[in-house]
Amino acid sequence: MDRLASHKVTKDIVSKYGFRFTKSLGQNFLIDEGVLEKIVDAGDITKDDVVIEIGPGIGTLTKELSLRAKKVVSIEIDKMLIPILKDTLSERDNVTIINEDILKADIKSIVDEYADGEPVKVVANLPYYITTPIIMRFLEEYIPMSIMVVMIQKEVADRINAKPSTKDYGTLSVAVQYYCSTEIVAKAPKGAFIPEPSVDSSVIKLTVKEKRDVQLKDEHLFFEVVKASFSKRRKTLLNALSSFGTLGEKDQMKYALEKSDIDPQRRGETLDIYEFARLSNEIFEIKK
Ligand code: SAM
Repeated sequence: MDRLASHKVTKDIVSKYGFRFTKSLGQNFLIDEGVLEKIVDAGDITKDDVVIEIGPGIGTLTKELSLRAKKVVSIEIDKMLIPILKDTLSERDNVTIINEDILKADIKSIVDEYADGEPVKVVANLPYYITTPIIMRFLEEYIPMSIMVVMIQKEVADRINAKPSTKDYGTLSVAVQYYCSTEIVAKAPKGAFIPEPSVDSSVIKLTVKEKRDVQLKDEHLFFEVVKASFSKRRKTLLNALSSFGTLGEKDQMKYALEKSDIDPQRRGETLDIYEFARLSNEIFEIKK
């Protein structure tokens, strides 16, 4: 079969099956071979790898992954795509398609079943309406994985990848960078897909840290402090923290900031992950 990442081949398959794109499922299929290659290359996939893919569509990325990996497990919500995938992937015997919603699927069991406890690689052109929940689910549930290479909206990729004191830096940057190092590996214009999405896209590579950079006394409190610090971007850190409600009184926040060696007059968006960790560990001591 011809390579799937082309306008003509994708159109032909879609019309052969009378498939109708569902916009609300983020169905924008990749037709740019150059971008496809960059995604697969960024995954550094070898014959030892089990790859989890979310949303295979008509199998464009799935097929390329399966040529390099030991095994590909793809989770697709739309049952109309299942017969198409059977056809386009008929020559690939190392692909399993699971017809489920990735937000409801038991990902841990899937990984256990197919990867036998070894870390997987997650590679996907994600449905954009649920980009952040998918990424955070894999990270927060500590799904055993070494890397995640995902195509997402450019703005979300920029936010994930942002450094302190930039406009894109926020809770999402700190949340993802707590678990991973981040790198934008490719860009894709709207024309790389059919139908064209309304936004530009980037491919981001998240490499899971074997050990966190910071030692936390309470992970939940750390994320609450981060959220509070960004909740009022124009206010000083002291005001943002003390008006948040759940962390403590103003004098307690001032004490915690001073003990963490952070000027209370700074803005939350200037803090790096080490400072957030110091601060949340001091607040933990106050709340104890
Ligand atoms: N991988 C294909 C490609 O690159 O051409 C398709 C990518 S398309 C951006 C997103 C895919 O995710 C679609 O096939 C869509 O049906 C699927 N999808 C949407 N929501 C999903 C969900 N909750 N769980 C699993 N798959 C989902």
